[in-house]
Amino acid sequence: MILLNIQDFLLKCSDVLLQFLTTASKRTYFVYMLSSLILVYYVFRKEKRKSFLNYVLHKKVWIGKSAFVDYYFILFNSTIKVLLIAPLFIYGLKLSFETNEYLNHLFGYEAVQLSFTTTMISYTIALTIFGDFMTYILHLAMHKIPILWEFHKVHHSATTMNPFTQYRIHPLELILNNLGSIFVFGITTGVFDYLSGAQISKWTFAGVTVFTLIFNSWGANLRHSHVRLRFYNFLEYLFISPLQHQVHHSDNPAHYDKNLGSKLAIWDWLFGTLVRSEQIKKVHFGLGKSENPKYTSFLQNLLNPFKNLLGIRKS
Ligand SMILES: [Zn+2]
Ligand SMILES: [Zn+2]
Repeated sequence: MILLNIQDFLLKCSDVLLQFLTTASKRTYFVYMLSSLILVYYVFRKEKRKSFLNYVLHKKVWIGKSAFVDYYFILFNSTIKVLLIAPLFIYGLKLSFETNEYLNHLFGYEAVQLSFTTTMISYTIALTIFGDFMTYILHLAMHKIPILWEFHKVHHSATTMNPFTQYRIHPLELILNNLGSIFVFGITTGVFDYLSGAQISKWTFAGVTVFTLIFNSWGANLRHSHVRLRFYNFLEYLFISPLQHQVHHSDNPAHYDKNLGSKLAIWDWLFGTLVRSEQIKKVHFGLGKSENPKYTSFLQNLLNPFKNLLGIRKS
């Protein structure tokens, strides 16, 4: 019996792992990885580099020590996802149901009735904007609250980046991020379920999927890479370009706590944390010379936040 459960657990974990390459909602979906090559080639030509193959498949970027820490985190976090996060999504549905019920109680049944198309478009926009704002606020908190920064350091300790570095996050941050997503999903779905007379269905999600598809096909996976892809200056006030996120990983103190946005740059623009590509020259990734050596292995990254916090408590 126990053996069967372990087998089931391992199957679920491998499924979570496989989804990184086979699901269109993931930035590492193999189609985006391939389509990004066109953008990589564009930057390669622009920067007049010599070997395209070496530029794309640089050893240090894919099989260096920092890259292996990314891979270990993906493996480790897949177990957390199966054990803790997947069951939590039930609460997202519960929250949407309760929000719908609450609105019914407040304003009565079918007070408003949006058409299907209006629901799909407005639900996609609302979920994107509300979700993106939540991500910005959580990310800002990760940088500004010392306890949370200890855990978020793991994402910033990468000294080389490839698209999988996106998933190099401490399990505690993974849980917090997912709680944020569940909250946003629950409230937004509940509100639109009410406004549309319970029309939120898998077809409504099609709008969200199309938006994610468009966003991800514009080099979203190059944010975590050495490919300096920038957008037009005016566009970088609205959307975070790959190079802008690379600035977020810079070890230069002038770039600390900047470009915290996920998809949209407007939050950074509004709150004064925006840096555009034209404002920067070189970018070195990592926590800086004094901190980098303390975060070179998977175990150091996993345990240092707890050790540091205990240290803080002692002083
Ligand atoms: Zn950060
Ligand atoms: Zn990042």
